[in-house]
This record gives sequence, C-alpha cells and structure tokens, in this order.
Amino acid sequence: MSWQACVITLLPEAFPGILGHSLAGRALAGRALDEGVWSLDIIALRDFGAGKHQSVDDTPSGGGAGMVLRADIAAAAYDKAVAAHPGLPVLAMTPRGKPLTQQRVQALADGPGVIVFCSRFEGVDERFYDTRMVEEVSIGDYVLSGGEVAAQVVLDAALRLRPGVMGDARSGEDESFSAGLLEYPHYTRPAEFEGHNIPDILTSGDHAKVDAWRQEMSEQITRERRPDLWEIYKKKT
Ligand code: SAM
Repeated sequence: MSWQACVITLLPEAFPGILGHSLAGRALAGRALDEGVWSLDIIALRDFGAGKHQSVDDTPSGGGAGMVLRADIAAAAYDKAVAAHPGLPVLAMTPRGKPLTQQRVQALADGPGVIVFCSRFEGVDERFYDTRMVEEVSIGDYVLSGGEVAAQVVLDAALRLRPGVMGDARSGEDESFSAGLLEYPHYTRPAEFEGHNIPDILTSGDHAKVDAWRQEMSEQITRERRPDLWEIYKKKT
C-alpha cells in the first residue's frame, strides 16, 4: 500500500512543491508520487474559515503583534484529516516543537504515513493543542514564515527512505546520522582537481581498507564538528 502524506495548510498551492520534482532517470519523490509509491492529500484550512471571507485568524487575546490561527478552524481541518487517514501520526510544525531527527524520520518512513499540520501567523490558539493529539516538531532553531517549508522537509526526509524512492536503497543506510555519525568525504572524477588528488586508498581496490578509512573519517568529522553527537556515539559503542 502506498505511503500516505496528508498536509493541512493555508497554502495548498505550495504542494507538492519540490516533492513533485524528479531528476531524469532517477526514482525520486516526484516520480514516486506519479507511480503511486506515496499519495498526497491536501486539506485547505481556508475551506474551514468563518464567515463570508472564510477568515481563519484573529487578533491575539491580551494584545501584541500579529494574528493567531483560530483553534476551531484548526480543529475542524484536523478532524477531517484524521477521519480520512485514521491511525496516522499527526505532526504540527512549530519552532517550539521537539527537534526533528533522522531516527524520527526513519520511524515515520517505516510507518503508514503522516499528517502534517502547517501553521502561519504567530501560531495556533493553544486550545488546539489542548484538545487534539499532535506531536509538535521543529526543523531547527530559527523561525520560518509558515509551516509549509518545514512540512516539505519532513516529507522529503521520510520519502527518500521509502522503498522505490531512492535510486540505491543503500544510500540511506550509509549516510549522516544513520549510525550516529556524520558522513565521510566523497570523491569522484577527475583524479586531480586544482592540485588536489583523490586519497590513494579510495582507488586501491582494497574494500576493507576503504571501509576502515571511511569509518575513521566519519569519526574524526563528527568529533570535530558535532561534539554533542560524538558524546552520544561514544556512550553507545
Ligand atoms: N510566533 C512563533 C514563535 O515565536 O515560535 C513563530 C510563528 S512562525 C512566524 C509561523 C509558523 O511557521 C509556525 O507556526 C510554524 O508552523 C512554522 N515554523 C516556523 N519556524 C519553524 C520551525 N523552525 N520548525 C517548524 N515550523 C516552523
């Protein structure tokens, strides 16, 4: 059965966006969508808007800048999504959420799909979170204008781990974060570029030595660039 993605958004025209593109000859997300490897259901928040202007937001109680997405509107769209896709986890994109990790992305990819709620303005009325089951997720410590780009990040990261999406399934097993380390450096032709050569070991044909070199490089890069990841990796090994 195809992996189900459902997105709740004020900008339905933003989807599938980058996810609809594929590179010629490679089974990336765009082609996989056409081939039914995954499906995309877009739920437009505006359809649940109030009054003749289908308004979805209002001024913040207590004053302050910006507007707030109404809880009743958000909840109506959520209820429709959950009824159409029972059993799927619901992620709400928000900077205050739990940081997205490769482990969470892998779990999403291994499951039946995901519903992603995209907010705008200053965010959603807190009573939406009080009354609906959602997992609040952040894609990093910075603020975007809306959840659509963040939703595409989540979907892209999960979809490329689905069978039939990536050209070579091994690509997902051997890259940054999959084993708790950052990835080793890559090289390809030409053999010499502006005085820099490919490390001899990579052209030696000795696969055991290549694997050992890559492991050593991964460890070195992680230790230097991400001491937080390195500490966790050291404790596990
Ligand atoms: N007032 C909010 C705050 O200070 O946390 C920021 C709201 S932001 C302008 C509008 C929406 O963009 C958010 O509700 C969320 O859906 C999305 N968004 C912004 N930054 C994000 C991030 N780092 N991760 C996930 N979603 C984000």
